Amino acid sequence: MIHQYRHYINGQWIESTSGETFDIINPSSEEVIAEVQEGNENDTKSAIDAARDAFDKGSWPTLTPSERARIILRVAEFSEKKLEELAKLETINQGKPIKMSRTSDLPFGIDNIRFFAGASRALEGISSNEFLATGTSLIRREPLGLVSCIIPWNYPWMISVWKIIPAIAMGNTVVVKPASQTPLTLLEFANILQEAGVPKGVVNIVTGPGKTVGEELVKNPKVDMVTMTGSTETGKNIMELASKTLKKVSLELGGKAPFIVFDDADINAASSSAVEGGFVNSGQDCTAATRFYVHESIYTKFINAVVEKTRKLRVGDPLNDSTDMGPLISASHRTKVSQYVEIGKKEGAKLILGGKIPDNTECKRGFYYDPTIFTDAQQDMAIVQEEIFGPVLAILPFRETQDVIEKANDIAYGLAGSVWTNDITRAIKVTNQLRCGEVWINNHLPLASELPHGGFKYSGFGKDLSVYALHEYTEMRHIYIDTAFKTRN
Ligand code: NAD
Repeated sequence: MIHQYRHYINGQWIESTSGETFDIINPSSEEVIAEVQEGNENDTKSAIDAARDAFDKGSWPTLTPSERARIILRVAEFSEKKLEELAKLETINQGKPIKMSRTSDLPFGIDNIRFFAGASRALEGISSNEFLATGTSLIRREPLGLVSCIIPWNYPWMISVWKIIPAIAMGNTVVVKPASQTPLTLLEFANILQEAGVPKGVVNIVTGPGKTVGEELVKNPKVDMVTMTGSTETGKNIMELASKTLKKVSLELGGKAPFIVFDDADINAASSSAVEGGFVNSGQDCTAATRFYVHESIYTKFINAVVEKTRKLRVGDPLNDSTDMGPLISASHRTKVSQYVEIGKKEGAKLILGGKIPDNTECKRGFYYDPTIFTDAQQDMAIVQEEIFGPVLAILPFRETQDVIEKANDIAYGLAGSVWTNDITRAIKVTNQLRCGEVWINNHLPLASELPHGGFKYSGFGKDLSVYALHEYTEMRHIYIDTAFKTRN
């Protein structure tokens, strides 16, 4: 029996007004695993009305941060109790290895929830000033109102947490739209939110296409802010649509992270991190290491180490505890990735590993693709300039520091990057010149609840995680109190 899900609106499970549904596919087996509602503008408007009422007339925005935090901490506790169930569902729906869902996405998301619950009680600001002889001022951060949260398919549950929790911790209400491929863990999360005591209407979930549900969430004048993670193209559309009603927008978009290895780097550590950072989530990660600039004096040694470690990756059934890389999200995405590989070959990069569908029996069904490595790539090649969002690494040699900095910056994106060297002065000098929102020195990938995540340039603007994410979901208000009022009268 296939599980059937409904929209979650105003604390109720509701069918689409159209009666339409669509299938959810397990990307590792190509089997239908669930049926969800195909939402439309009317369903989205109902969810928006529920969230609007919960903000304008409900208790949630007027609770103290402490009262909200108590409920949100229960959300973390209940998520932890259901960790194994959610991790399995995430793996079946998204295709990521179970060890990743179980030991990374879920525990990290739970830590994020706890962080936001606590940090929302401790926001600092200038609470008064005496700059004006005639008065004093309060500067307050207040909830914005209704926030639309639009989620991608690569980290369905964790990125939902990154949007929903800071928004509601600051007293807002939300309508959330998961990506059409991966709505299941978010829909299960609705039960947790309800059980934890989040009042009806505070979090609403509508499933359906970006064109209908997503656009209504952006256009509707009752919405105050849109926060979205997804592709740069979708981000541009959202910004344009949101401009009609002058909404606040926060966009976490695509990336093409450089991984710069200097001649004095620890090659063993760098090559291990390259494999982990390049093939994480089958390369479907906006911060994945994709462009490797390696000093010419260690070029061959580094490539050999990366190839040796990549060969050890186990590609296959993501529910197997020892699997390192599962399938891609869909057949069409695998076609896109393999087209990039063909372009790379035509453009003259040297394919030294992968570039095909794995031939082991475990990968007969499902949208698997081998970890793939190109060397001798050139800066202007599509595989170096464009986001492939798959397990494809491009390695290029460099000689001069200034040249590698220019190449690292010579790209539309600016989300993340890493610098590998034992010379701290060089590391800082290079980092200072990189145009991206996150730089790791002698590592690639780590995130923490306390530290902001977000990009520059075509990677968008606005921050997830940290207290800066809490700020995103607030309006700053200045209240002036006239203390000379009596003397003047
Ligand atoms: P996508 O842009 O196709 O979809 C993202 C979300 O937007 C989905 O929910 C989709 O239904 C919705 N959407 C699509 N068209 C819309 C429209 N016209 N109006 C409103 N909503 C619309 O992205 P994706 O394929 O789900 O995710 C992959 C992309 O996300 C990659 O480019 C990746 O780099 C990026 N990403 C970025 C970050 C980050 O933090 N910067 C994190 C994860 C993923």
